[in-house]
Order: sequence, then structure tokens, then C-alpha cells
Amino acid sequence: MIVVMEKNATSEQVAHMVDRVQQLGLKAHVIEGTERTVIAAIGDKRETMRESLASGEGVAEVVPILAPYKVASREVKPEPTCVERGSLKVGAGHLGVIAGPCSVESEEQIMESARAVKAAGATALRGGAFKPRTSPYSFQGLKEEGLRLLAAAREETGLAVVTEVMSTEDVELVANYADVLQIGARNMQNYRLLEAVGGVDRPVLLKRGASATMEELLLAAEYILNEGNPNVMLCERGIRTFESHTRFTLPLATVPYLQHKTHLPVVIDPSHGTGHAYLVPPMAAAAVAAGADGLIIEVHPSPEHAMSDGYQSLTPAQFAATMVRVRAVAQALAATP
Ligand code: PEP
Ligand code: MN
Repeated sequence: MIVVMEKNATSEQVAHMVDRVQQLGLKAHVIEGTERTVIAAIGDKRETMRESLASGEGVAEVVPILAPYKVASREVKPEPTCVERGSLKVGAGHLGVIAGPCSVESEEQIMESARAVKAAGATALRGGAFKPRTSPYSFQGLKEEGLRLLAAAREETGLAVVTEVMSTEDVELVANYADVLQIGARNMQNYRLLEAVGGVDRPVLLKRGASATMEELLLAAEYILNEGNPNVMLCERGIRTFESHTRFTLPLATVPYLQHKTHLPVVIDPSHGTGHAYLVPPMAAAAVAAGADGLIIEVHPSPEHAMSDGYQSLTPAQFAATMVRVRAVAQALAATP
């Protein structure tokens, strides 16, 4: 349920209600909106609890949260969330563009990528150091060396670094180097991993599992939020369908649907979503037209030599042209007729 505080409730009254919620054996999440503060009270509850909380000083009303996900729900926080870390700002009117290679391969490759995407206007650098590959014989990533190279690229360009963490034991290591922790599609329902990143002071980019429903995605986000990390971005990266002309099927209705259900920002990955470089620029523009809060795009200095996902990676020149297109769409949307 949500304890909605009165507009002029004092911070002492809010703190007192947080104590009351905790005394009832519930978890309290304080969400400060522009209008008023609400406290989401999560856990096993009884009607008597609602009545007892409703009588608290400074409380306007206590209402149930109807959605199965709680802290992620728009019911709890009507205003959109902006996730911010270093150069990256995503949501609430800020369009974040995360770009870079699928995998970090060498110092030269990541530095060249970082300089190129920065020059074209990207606001963060991506690059996998721990790679979830379908085959155990494929390149698995440079691991800690890859993380070091990403940190060096941030040092030079100032771009925030987004990189995947694949297992709970690596969370601390990856967080030591990265600005944003990416949870890959294959791990969307790795609940212990979600809890682990929920306990870390780093934003999380949570990718949709290839066969996950919207509700499963939102409940996965809830695992992270419930551990106290409020900075979660949801990422649509395509789902598996009967269709085979693209690597995955990229549903863009995800953007307005999720924005209707949650305050969390929605990022689109047109690279994995289509699997073909020539489909990436139009789908990036379409994602922004649909209202996406961010994009994550694979860019490689020489896609034909990439150690992973070269066929869906843009060259720096293609990425620069995509940015021009994306900016034009973003500006057109912001313009009033
Ligand atoms: C990636 O971003 O390189 C990646 C492996 O993505 P996904 O988890 O969406 O397959
Ligand atoms: Mn990839």
C-alpha cells in the first residue's frame, strides 16, 4: 500500500511514518515527488495496518497498490524518474545515448570507439568485458582487463561506462570500474543477481529477457528496487518470435506501454533488436519517435573485424549519421506545432 503524505507534511512526520511502517513488519520506500512525499509500504499486510497508518499525523490517505510490482509502479510515483550517473542522463525529458562495441577487444579498439561515439554525441560508452555467449567456444570477453580499458576510456573522454555483470561474485569488481551495471537478457530472471545489484550504489540497465513478458520485466526491476537501488533503466532489446528476418523482433509499443505502467526510463537496443546494421538507424529514430528515454547502440571501428556482433555494429560514420537523424526526430517531437 501507499502512505500518501499531505502536501505540507514535515520531514519529522515522514520519518515517523517510516518507523510505523517498519514496526508493522513492512519495508518502507520513501518516494519524494514534486507535489508530495509517499511511502510505499511493502510486505505481507492486513486491513488493520491500513487503518492504523491512516491515522498517522501528516497522512493524507493510505491506498492499495494494484499492480503486482510496487516500487516500479506509476501508482507509487507518477513523475518519470531520471537516472543519472556522470555524463549519462536518461529519463524525464533527457535522451541518453549509450554507444560502443559489443565487446572490449583491445586498448586501441575501445579508445577509438570511445572517441568516435563521443564526437558524434553519445552520452555514455558501452562495451562488454564479461560476455554471455551462446557457445562456450566463442570469445568470452577480456574480463578485468576489459574493465580497466573501459575505465581508461572514461578517463580520456569523460563518458560514463556501461558494462555487463554476469554473476553475483563479480558485482563488486564490475562496480569498482563501471558507472552503470548492465544485466543482460539471459540474466533478467537471475534473482540473486538482481538482488546483488540492488544493493550497490550504481544505476542498473536491465535488459528484457528474450521471452519475458512486460510483467516479468517489471517484477525483475522490482527485485532491484526492493533492495534500495532506485536507479533502474528498463531496456527493450527484442524478443524471440516465429519471425526470422531479424535476429529478434523489436516491439516498440514497449516504450509507451512501459511508460504508462512505470516511472522508470525505457531504453531501446536496436542493435540486438534487429541484428542487422542497416536496420539500426531507422529503428533508432523510430524508438525516439515512440518516446524512448534512451538508446543503446553497438558501434565498432571496423565491424568486419569485430570479435562479437559485427554484423549488427555500425561504423563510426554510420553512427554519426544515425545521431543526426535521432536528434532531428527528438527536436521535431519537442517542437510545438
Ligand atoms: C549486449 O548488450 O552485448 C548483450 C549481450 O545484450 P543482450 O543481453 O540483450 O543479449
Ligand atoms: Mn552484442
